[in-house]
Amino acid sequence: MSIKIVPQEQLEQQNDKVSLIHKVPLLFYPVPKTLYSQRLSRLQFLVKDSPFADYLNFCSKIVAQQAKLVETMPISQNLTESIDLAIKKNIAPLSIENYPLTLQWLDYLYPIMDAVSDVNESITKTINNLKQNSKEQLLDKASQLLAGQFDAVDSNESLFIWSALSTYYSQLASQLPGKAVAEFGEQRWLCPVCQSSPVASIVHLGNNIGLRYLHCSLCESEWHVPRAKCTNCDNLQDITYYALDNELAAIKTECCDHCHSYLKIFSQERDPHLDVVADDIYSLLLDMETEKEQFSKSGVNPLLFSV
Ligand SMILES: [Zn+2]
Ligand SMILES: [Zn+2]
Repeated sequence: MSIKIVPQEQLEQQNDKVSLIHKVPLLFYPVPKTLYSQRLSRLQFLVKDSPFADYLNFCSKIVAQQAKLVETMPISQNLTESIDLAIKKNIAPLSIENYPLTLQWLDYLYPIMDAVSDVNESITKTINNLKQNSKEQLLDKASQLLAGQFDAVDSNESLFIWSALSTYYSQLASQLPGKAVAEFGEQRWLCPVCQSSPVASIVHLGNNIGLRYLHCSLCESEWHVPRAKCTNCDNLQDITYYALDNELAAIKTECCDHCHSYLKIFSQERDPHLDVVADDIYSLLLDMETEKEQFSKSGVNPLLFSV
């Protein structure tokens, strides 16, 4: 792993070389209490002008419930020991290998399903099936998804399971006591906090203008990756960009001729209101056009398993 999380005290003992690298902020933990409400506002804005309005409305209901849950049923964990253990094992602190999954996330699954149970027949059927699963079955399915075995779980069910997991993990990530440091090497493909795939990358504004970060599909952290390189294999050559309207577009796909994957890159410089998850759905036509060029997506959208 080339970005790792260490306790604050250890960070102060790092050598000068690492401190220099540290001047680029390497990692941003999420702030769930604003994240979901801002995503909801963005979805409500995007729905006015989208061929995917029905789907965006459906997502809005899930995100509205996530926003409510982090306010009304917040979790609080002391993760100091988990950080220490992760450093010993040299793995991500919230990876399933370091921080075993309990049943606590299920407190979010049922309210999320209830928020959309009457949207249409197919969704009602999926929810009814999922509600018949035992807690152990649900835990197995969640563990398979966290291990990246997306084909092992019905994609309609995955959306609900992942949304509940994400509500849980984003709060854990926001409570991690460690800071990030960079180690030499590449391979920044997976989240240094929870080891999940990114949704897309985003070029920041403000103090970090021009810096590019990958946005985690599970815990919603963002970690730094240099621009103009493949985020799936570190290739620097033959990177092609596609956009729907013009080369100054705020949303493009970054395509790699080496591993034939692509991931979207969002520019806050061109649209400061972008939300990675919401705008990724809004720009589905760009995925379709990019996939016609024989590239396959290397990311995961937590609200798009079933599309
Ligand atoms: Zn993560
Ligand atoms: Zn590549």
